[in-house]
Amino acid sequence: MKRIDLHMHTTHSDGSYAPLDLIRYAKQKKLDCVSVTDHDTMTSVRECREEAGRLGLEFIPGIELSAKFEPGTLHLLGYFLDADHPGLQKKLVKIQKARRERNPQIIDKLQKLGVDLSLEEVIQEAYEDKEIPAGRQLGRPHFARALVKKNIVGSLQEAFHRFLAKGSPAYVDKSRLTGAEVISIIHEAGGVVSLAHPKQMKLEGEALEGEIRKLVDQGLDALEVFHSSHGPEDHAVFLRFAKRFNLVTTGGSDFHGTNKSGLDLGFLGSNIRLSYEVVEDLRKRSQKRSSS
Ligand code: AMP
Ligand code: ZN
Ligand code: FE
Ligand code: FE
Repeated sequence: MKRIDLHMHTTHSDGSYAPLDLIRYAKQKKLDCVSVTDHDTMTSVRECREEAGRLGLEFIPGIELSAKFEPGTLHLLGYFLDADHPGLQKKLVKIQKARRERNPQIIDKLQKLGVDLSLEEVIQEAYEDKEIPAGRQLGRPHFARALVKKNIVGSLQEAFHRFLAKGSPAYVDKSRLTGAEVISIIHEAGGVVSLAHPKQMKLEGEALEGEIRKLVDQGLDALEVFHSSHGPEDHAVFLRFAKRFNLVTTGGSDFHGTNKSGLDLGFLGSNIRLSYEVVEDLRKRSQKRSSS
């Protein structure tokens, strides 16, 4: 059975592994098929694809985009989309601008809370540089890392809990896109959309079903039933929804290297492996979308 992981991040967003290192690590972990899903950027695709080709690993271009949502978070994964699609590129520039505007606001909130941290220090910690390299992203895990580095908190988890997580005092919302907009951006670029870690929507029962139904009506193709943060009960709930709404059941570790603790590349949950049929179904659906 092939080993598949469809959710991971490189240094181009907020992972700690550079594209080449991530693909080499995937090979070392004996993975057969991976999708790299950086937040808001596809600048690592070319390098990843080439290295995967050299190592004989199947590579699926991907992305993770966030959308406006309450009470939890709504992240959507795009697969098989064209990284060079001009419409997508234009949208990403806008999304990246919103992210850049958020960064000083997080610093502002932290400083008002009495935390001594500057944006320069966060950028330096993330990129060993004074500026963010073109196309690459600064995310909350970088802020968390800088807070740990300065001994303001003891762990990344504490940084999120005390300051950065949604609902914590230095949280700043960035996304101005709706779920429907994100879905159409990915579809227009030839991709298919999976709802990432649905547990993080923080909804249950009918409320959860209602939101998933809404996304399905907007064109959702798949559900990330298997995610490193999901347990057996979550799998049961999400498998039911996937069946009800005819969604492909994707899975991924959401590996961020040392920028996110407690999970390894290829870990989709205890004893969980993804069937290769999932990849074939995603590919088929993307081809069907592109030809219609
Ligand atoms: P951003 O795109 O900058 O808002 O950052 C999102 C990333 O922050 C996610 O991919 C997670 O890796 C991380 N993250 C968000 N919430 C938490 C949390 N409560 N604990 C740990 N990491 C988190
Ligand atoms: Zn992330
Ligand atoms: Fe996410
Ligand atoms: Fe992610």
